[in-house]
Amino acid sequence: MVRCNKPGCQKCEKGKGEGHGPIWILSVSLGNRKVRQIPIPSAWKKGVEESLHAFAQSRKLLKQMASVNLDLLKLRKQER
Ligand SMILES: [Zn+2]
Repeated sequence: MVRCNKPGCQKCEKGKGEGHGPIWILSVSLGNRKVRQIPIPSAWKKGVEESLHAFAQSRKLLKQMASVNLDLLKLRKQER
């Protein structure tokens, strides 16, 4: 929820209003401690969440592949 701070806005009135929204913010880490915050239209929320899930799954798979390749490398070196 966000408050617009416009004088006289009923939704943001102190104690009564609950602000505007809910709005959804996607935080993207760009490395180097940089984070970009992108507002997401609520109609896109589900799609964005699914994409984030798919991204997390691929990253997990890549980590597993890296780990297996590391083990293979160690085995090959032992065989020499
Ligand atoms: Zn307001």
